[in-house]
Amino acid sequence: MQNDHLTDNTRRLAVIGGGIMGVTLAYRLSQKGFSVTIYERGDNLGGLAGFITYDGVRIDRFYHTILSSDMSMQTLIQESGVADRLHFVETKQGFYDNGRLYPFNTPIDLLTFPPLNLFQRLRLGLQVIYAQFESDWRKIDQIPVQDWLLKVSGRGVYNKVWKPLLNAKFDSTAKDVPATYIWSRLKRMMGTRQGVTSKEMMCYLEDGYYTLIEGLAALCERQGVAIRLNTAIDEIVIENGRAVGVRTPDGLTYYDAVISTLQSPILSAMIPAAPQPFRDLLSRQEYLGVLCPLLILKRSLMPYYVLNITDESIPFTAVVETTRLRDPKYVNGHHLVYLPKYLAPDNEMARWPDDRVQTEWLKHLKRMFPEFDESWITEFLVQRARYVEPIRPIGTLDQIPPIRTPVERLYMGNTVMIYPDLGNGESVTRFAQKVADVVLAEAPGWEPVRLGVIAEEH
Ligand SMILES: Cc1cc2nc3c(=O)[nH]c(=O)nc-3n(C[C@H](O)[C@H](O)[C@H](O)COP(=O)(O)OP(=O)(O)OC[C@H]3O[C@@H](n4cnc5c(N)ncnc54)[C@H](O)[C@@H]3O)c2cc1C
Repeated sequence: MQNDHLTDNTRRLAVIGGGIMGVTLAYRLSQKGFSVTIYERGDNLGGLAGFITYDGVRIDRFYHTILSSDMSMQTLIQESGVADRLHFVETKQGFYDNGRLYPFNTPIDLLTFPPLNLFQRLRLGLQVIYAQFESDWRKIDQIPVQDWLLKVSGRGVYNKVWKPLLNAKFDSTAKDVPATYIWSRLKRMMGTRQGVTSKEMMCYLEDGYYTLIEGLAALCERQGVAIRLNTAIDEIVIENGRAVGVRTPDGLTYYDAVISTLQSPILSAMIPAAPQPFRDLLSRQEYLGVLCPLLILKRSLMPYYVLNITDESIPFTAVVETTRLRDPKYVNGHHLVYLPKYLAPDNEMARWPDDRVQTEWLKHLKRMFPEFDESWITEFLVQRARYVEPIRPIGTLDQIPPIRTPVERLYMGNTVMIYPDLGNGESVTRFAQKVADVVLAEAPGWEPVRLGVIAEEH
């Protein structure tokens, strides 16, 4: 192929992955004058934050909330012109313990929480306060979560509350989790608390979380971003140590730089010409998956947005009724209940067929809610994802890949790199700004690509 046309001053970027990270990056970089193409394997943008259409309305594929403290998200909501569809709501949580449901929202709920004695309740409260004052996350990254919790909460609270919650969330990987996980989570959740009554405030978008992604995508298109759906990247083409383009089933397209937002093992598989130690680093990264049935019900199941479960015989991690947040009138009056189970990579439940999941899940749901009847169910839809939550065992900080990879002009951003924050829309959109800043800083130094020369080398 002969093409001796030199690129003009506009830098062309390929962003791989159309989840919230990819779309935010495309928006920020096109704002700065880059010519951006998003490549998304699926038939819609959104990734884990995508949607399904049911009864003519959009329903989040997985439960998604925006916290009242999520300022990066709220800024993007403003910029994308969908703020008039954002609502703030006081939400409630509960605990399921030993066959009973308990409210767990206010300091009074904590001080009267029946599964613990008074001394244990005070220690649990102290743990929450202790987390707010701890600022050196590198120090607690060295401490197993169990040790950190035992020190302040004590054995009784640990066994009754923390241990079952950790097992539910981390499956068989719970023992390797550093204290940063609970510390990060406690800090994030306390950010939603408002006023002396400590009310928990969360937000929702009328047409679901995807409303933001749709708004950003519209802005992107106005700024000239090309969005290529149903287009999986097979390979990031690397020549002489530099990323020069992407290969799809349609062929090779050249870019000045490539930005991957893919989970690390997926990226590893598509860069055969990258240095092997870097590919190994990416492919070693483990993730929890999720098996997440969504029940579409004719009536509400419980008064809570989320019910934490400390009964280890229940196979799912929590019960999340999102229509306790998003008004059911925006989903044609349906009530939406998600029953997620986070799965370690070796958990064979990942391979359970949908009907087996349904039988097992309903058996336990009936045990938890004796009044629940299967006639309430309109639909039982099993959603799954393999790469959800990165597993970061203690002592592996040096395994976090850099934004600027060892391959020249190949940049990356994914939830593994967001540590010690948790992976959520807020942290992902903040991190997208960091990736954009690195690209902006380096782009002036990029030599213009002489497309013809590169093409002749093939
Ligand atoms: C059950 C569950 C509940 C959650 N709850 C919340 C919540 O309440 N609040 C919150 O803020 N966050 C929540 N999250 C987390 C949030 O969904 C993620 O942090 C966020 O969506 C990650 O976005 P991302 O763009 O980094 O990754 P992804 O969404 O995974 O995007 C990656 C994209 O790359 C695409 N892709 C993969 N391979 C290729 C290829 N070869 N070529 C092209 N494209 C490819 C994928 O299709 C995908 O669209 C939840 C997640 C789950 C699973």
